[in-house]
Parts: sequence; structure tokens; C-alpha cells
Amino acid sequence: MSKIQMTTPLVEMDGDEMTRILWQMIKDELLLPFIDLKTEYYDLGLEHRNETDDKVTVESAEATKKYGVAVKCATITPNAARMTEYNLKEMWKSPNGTIRAILDGTVFRAPIVVKGIEPNVKSWKKPITIARHAYGDVYKNTEMVVPKAGKVELVYTAEDGTEERALVHTFNGPGVVQGQHNLNDSIESFAHSCFKYALDTKQDLWFATKDTISKKYDHTFKDVFQEIFDKEYKEAFDKAGIEYFYTLIDDAVARVMKSEGGFIWACKNYDGDVMSDMISSAFGSLAMMTSVLVSPAGYYEYEAAHGTVQRHYYKHLKGEETSTNSVATIFAWTGALRKRGELDNIPELSVFADKLEQACIKTIEDGKMTKDLALITSIENPTVLNSRDFIIEIRKTLESL
Ligand code: NAD
Repeated sequence: MSKIQMTTPLVEMDGDEMTRILWQMIKDELLLPFIDLKTEYYDLGLEHRNETDDKVTVESAEATKKYGVAVKCATITPNAARMTEYNLKEMWKSPNGTIRAILDGTVFRAPIVVKGIEPNVKSWKKPITIARHAYGDVYKNTEMVVPKAGKVELVYTAEDGTEERALVHTFNGPGVVQGQHNLNDSIESFAHSCFKYALDTKQDLWFATKDTISKKYDHTFKDVFQEIFDKEYKEAFDKAGIEYFYTLIDDAVARVMKSEGGFIWACKNYDGDVMSDMISSAFGSLAMMTSVLVSPAGYYEYEAAHGTVQRHYYKHLKGEETSTNSVATIFAWTGALRKRGELDNIPELSVFADKLEQACIKTIEDGKMTKDLALITSIENPTVLNSRDFIIEIRKTLESL
């Protein structure tokens, strides 16, 4: 069998711990035998980030700008414990944060739906994708504890020195106060990423905020989305037969619970943080969730939504058997390969990506799975496989399709 040829390399960002082990197994068993895999390799493992003073992370993001598509393994975000464990020169920042700051954009997260792992919400038949705005609001807030009675105001000082003031509250006693902001530029890129992704995946786009209460802040989000949609995307949406619709967040929540799924739900930063956790747990497992960063300039970075599965890695190091679910990491590869196939007009590559995804789903539906899924499946007497055997089973299914 001749291998599928690629023309442009994928930016490959290797990572840490158990997911790094899975990464190599996936390449060896599921990719290299079938594809003449072209990648530009960046080792984002913590040791190499430390050796390069984290320059490798910046270089990998710059390479993504050059080539357009990246695939990333989960990485450790250092904390105090990791400083000693890895003898770090500095508490390096989260690679995802660094990459996001360079590429800009929105993170889309969607569950991988399989029969036998039923969502807790009975009406959900298709995945619900959350598009989370990744800048500002409560994540860049300034807050104060108000110790006793007094007045709190918002003061805006323009560059020419003119001032605008608004009373927040006149306190009669102790309390708390918080200031938040966002930027039109960032809201605009968020909107563009959402509209582009909806067109890319041919799904309706919902957007919801609390604009009835927040008549300036949330209303700006609503207006920015509507203006950009009317001006730049309405025609393309009509042509694709998909819809953009705005509603109040309370209404969106009620509708989501009764929907069949199969749409993108754009959320402000905090809403997206909370709702993506709700959606992923209601669909079953963090290990069955895809994640892609889409930049307004049209760069894509695919990853798994979960972390490095540290606990399994320590078992692995002790020579004990692990049963780590590789599906989300495999889907990061298939997402990136499919996109490369589309951009470079290599249909075989996209077909291969589809097939590999089908193989993952079929393997689980045939009752062969890792322990995390065996614990929640409705399939009777599932076969629980270790990390490697699960990947080998997927390969067998793939070769049978
Ligand atoms: P984690 O996602 O690795 O694990 C959370 C829980 O989910 C654990 O109980 C784990 O056993 C389970 N789990 C997750 N993925 C699984 C899989 N594929 N198969 C089976 N079970 C799975 O998150 P954590 O333990 O909070 O963090 C570990 C490390 O990962 C930390 O150093 C953190 O900085 C990093 N992290 C990285 C990313 C990323 O790169 N995208 C995201 C989150 C956390």
C-alpha cells in the first residue's frame, strides 16, 4: 500500500507526561504506517521549554503563522511543585496562554459522541460546540474589598485629560467591588472566528449574553456580532443554509437543554468557562472532547481538551499498566490532518482523517475501550484495554474499514 503524500508540514508541538507517551504510540501505530507524515517538530515538553527559556513555545506559534495548521500535545503548566520536580529556571507561563496571545482567536470545544456513552441530557443527539471568548471580563478584573462606608466611582480619563465619572455605589458599610473591561478589537476577532468556524463546520451559531441587564457592556458584544454578521457573513450563511441567532443567556440555557445539539454556542469568557465544563461532563468524559483554537487570520491549532494525565504517567514510570484514553489526542491529529487536506487539496488526507475517527468510534461501540469509558458506558461487559492495546485495536478497526 502506498502512503498518502503531504505537501505542507503540520506544526507538531510535542508535550508532557502520559500524553507524550500516547503521542508517540499514535504516530507509530496510526499515522506513520499510512501517511508520509510531514511535520515541523517543536518539543514543548517542559524540560526543553526550560532549556530554551521557553523560546521554543514562541517559535512553535510563529511556525503556526507560517504554515497555518498545528497539532499540540497536552503540556504541563508549571506551578511550585513542578519547579522542584523539573528543577526549573523560572515558573514558565502556560504554553496555551503564550500560543493564544500570539495567534489570537477563539477556542472551540466539542464532545466526541459515541453510542454506549449516552449524554445525561436525553434530547442531545449531536455534539454541542462551545466557542469561548478567551480575553478579558472577570479574568482581567481589578477588585477591591470595601472596608467601610464610602463612595465607589468609575473614572475614565481620556488622553486629553477630560474625565467621565459614573457612580458604582455609595456604601453604608463594608462590601466588595470589581472593575472589568473588554476591547472592541478582541470582541471583533471573537465574532469573526465564530462566523468562520460555523461556515467551516456548517453548523448554526448561537450567541447569548445578559444584555437586558448589562445594557452597555454585554450590549456591545451583541451589537459587534450583529454588525459583523450583517456586513460580512449573512450571504455566506444563507448560501450554506445555516443560521446565526442571538438570544438572552437564560433563554439560550433553556433551549440548549431541550435541543438535539449540532450547533455552536458562542459564550463570553466566564460563561464559556463554566458551560464547556457542564457540556463535557454531561456528554461523558473530558477524554472525549476535541479542542481547536481558530484565529481570525485563519490559523488553526488542534489539541485535546484534557491535561497530561499526570497520575497515569507516574504509574507508567513505575512500570505499572495504564489505561489512558487517547481518543481526544487522536482527534487532535485528525482535525489537523483534515484541515491540511482541505487547504492543500489532498482529499485522501481528509478521507483518512475521517476514517481514523470512525475507527476510534467503532472500536468503542464494539465494546473495546479504556477504563474511564468502561466506568460510564451502557454497553454490557466492555473489554477494558490498556493504553497501548486500545491504540492497537483502533489500528485493527482502521485496517478493516
Ligand atoms: P488532566 O486533564 O490531566 O486530568 C484530570 C482528570 O481527568 C484526572 O483524574 C485524569 O485521570 C482524568 N483524565 C484526563 N484525561 C484523561 C484521559 N485521556 N484518559 C483517562 N483519564 C483522563 O488534568 P490535571 O490532572 O488537572 O493536570 C495535569 C497536568 O496537565 C497539569 O500539569 C496541567 O498543567 C496540565 N494541563 C494541560 C492542559 C493542556 O495542555 N491543554 C490542559 C489542562 C491541564
